[in-house]
Amino acid sequence: MFDSKEKTGLESLGEFGLIDRITKVVELTEKSTVKGIGDDAAVLDFSGKKALISTDLLLEGIHFDLRYVPLKHLGYKAVQVNLSDIYAMNAMASQITFSIGLSSKFPLEAVDELYAGVLLACKKFNVDLIGGDTSTSAQGLVISVTSIGYASEEDIVYRNGAQEGDLICISGDLGGAYVGLQLLEREKKIFLENPNIQPDLEGKDYIVERQLKPEARKDIIELLASIGVKPTAMIDVSDGLASEILHICRSSDKGCKLYEEKIPIDPMTYGTAQDFGLDPTICALNGGEDYELLFTVNQDDYDKIKNHLDISIIGHITEVSAGCELISKSGKVHPIKAQGWNAFN
Ligand code: ADP
Ligand code: MG
Repeated sequence: MFDSKEKTGLESLGEFGLIDRITKVVELTEKSTVKGIGDDAAVLDFSGKKALISTDLLLEGIHFDLRYVPLKHLGYKAVQVNLSDIYAMNAMASQITFSIGLSSKFPLEAVDELYAGVLLACKKFNVDLIGGDTSTSAQGLVISVTSIGYASEEDIVYRNGAQEGDLICISGDLGGAYVGLQLLEREKKIFLENPNIQPDLEGKDYIVERQLKPEARKDIIELLASIGVKPTAMIDVSDGLASEILHICRSSDKGCKLYEEKIPIDPMTYGTAQDFGLDPTICALNGGEDYELLFTVNQDDYDKIKNHLDISIIGHITEVSAGCELISKSGKVHPIKAQGWNAFN
């Protein structure tokens, strides 16, 4: 689990030594950070903008498996997943707090690896680490991340603003993180049965990275701002397209039509899903963890978004009585369900 040869017990540092170790390399770059780590609370100044806050709790064995997730990737992903919620409000993320509970199996080197991923994500997304809490845990690793961001009131996009006739858009492609997880689970099983067999992930970088190292779509928020498009509703894809579009439709009191043929799926996702005997469309609908942005825009904005390769238009919003439907490639109509989705036949 921990490749490094050195193993320094955490008891040799104590809580304050560990906090010093974690926090001494932290740099502050955001102008809204007035005070970061080192006092009883951090102080922020958003000069008249609205503040946005989102938090996630991640438990070893429930949300991640350290048998195939490297700690650096885990730190990186924990931050990305949380920042994604701020971007999904059409806001900019500016700070995070990162708290950990560590069981006795974790040496200092493991904590260093975890924070290397956290700080890499912060640097890449221009976010300050402004605090956290450190504790021992009875069992396993516990992580809690809180993201803080800001936006002008008129720019914030909620889930409930979709209007009849709006176009339904998705960034990037879907299903990759789920298929990548199937691959990692398969290799874990083989490894547990025979530890001498090396994992065979050759040529599968894209989907393995989609699972282990997702990137929050800050770039899409910046793109939409630069082309003058404010979505009417938006959500990030953590649980799968089906569940997220239902959230938008329920919050907005509307229905929708999605077209299977329009759902963007990467060729590697598609082929690997088929190798596993999975329907690629089901992976996109129910897989989750893609951290793409699902949003609706007014039809008048069609010309502004139609040429952006990283945005696909996959359907439109209807009146609530029309329900939420997926039109399959063969033209059959299927009600969209959040869970227990079954093959089309
Ligand atoms: P308190 O007793 O007020 O909770 P701590 O001694 O726990 O204070 O923390 C001291 C400072 O270090 C605070 O600014 C806190 O936010 C920060 N801090 C503690 N643990 C972490 C951590 N795991 N990651 C980042 N900052 C941390
Ligand atoms: Mg504390």
